[in-house]
Amino acid sequence: MKHSIRKGILLSALLGAFLLTSGCTAGMAQQPQEHPIAEQQKTEVEATPEPTRTPEVGGKGIAAVEEPEGPLAPSGKSYEYYETVEPTYVDGVLLVNKEYALPRDYGNGEDATAYQALLKLQRAARWAGYSMDLMSGYRSFETQEELYNDYVAVDGVEKADTYSAWPGHSEHQTGLAFDVGWVDLQFADTPAGRWLANHAHEYGFIIRYPEGKEDITGYQYEPWHIRYLGVDLATKVHQSGLCLEEYLGLI
Ligand SMILES: [Zn+2]
Repeated sequence: MKHSIRKGILLSALLGAFLLTSGCTAGMAQQPQEHPIAEQQKTEVEATPEPTRTPEVGGKGIAAVEEPEGPLAPSGKSYEYYETVEPTYVDGVLLVNKEYALPRDYGNGEDATAYQALLKLQRAARWAGYSMDLMSGYRSFETQEELYNDYVAVDGVEKADTYSAWPGHSEHQTGLAFDVGWVDLQFADTPAGRWLANHAHEYGFIIRYPEGKEDITGYQYEPWHIRYLGVDLATKVHQSGLCLEEYLGLI
C-alpha cells in the first residue's frame, strides 16, 4: 500500500497541477482527454487515506479530495493499518481473529513444524481408515482478500463474515492453520470428522472454531479448520472445552 499511497499523493499533485492549468487554453489543448484523466485521478486520490492533506487549490474537483473516507479494507480498518500492525502473542501464542490482525506481508508459507505435525496427523488418520486431505494451508493477505471478495459476491457481506476471514485476519496467514478432510459442516458428523475432533490435539492441533463458540470466535462451527499449538497446549485447550480466546483468558 505504501506504493499506492505515494502514487495517490503524486496523483494529487498532478491533479492540482492539472486544475491550475485547466483554465489555460494551451493546457487544455495539450490535454485532449482531460475529462477521462481527471476522472481517473479523482478516483485515485479519493482512494488515498490522507485526510489531513490540505489541498492548495479549491474547486469542485478538489472537494472530492477532502473526503475523509480512505480506502478501507473489509475489516473496516484502512489498508495502511496492515502495513504497521504487529502480530499479537498471548502467552506466546500467536493470536489472529477479527480483533487481532497480522501485517500484510506476514508469512510466506506453512510453518515447518506445523506442517510436519499435519503429516503425522494425516498418517494417523490413514491408519485409522480415514483420508484427511489438506484442502487449504497458508494464504497470503492478497489471496485471502480475493477469496473473501468472491464469497461476498456470492453470499453478501453479512453471511461471508460468518465463515470467511477478512484479509489480515485469517489464521491461514499464520501458516499454522489447515483445512482438512471436507470443508463442509456435515464433516462433523462423518467418522473422519469425529476422528479429527477426538484426535487432533494428539498431533498438536485444536478445532479452532468449535460449535457453540460462534459468538466468541466470530465464526461458524468449522469442523475442518485446525490450528497448530503444539501437543501440550492443544491437549490442554482440548480438555478444557474452551475455545482459544477463552483459554487465553481474553473472554
Ligand atoms: Zn480454515
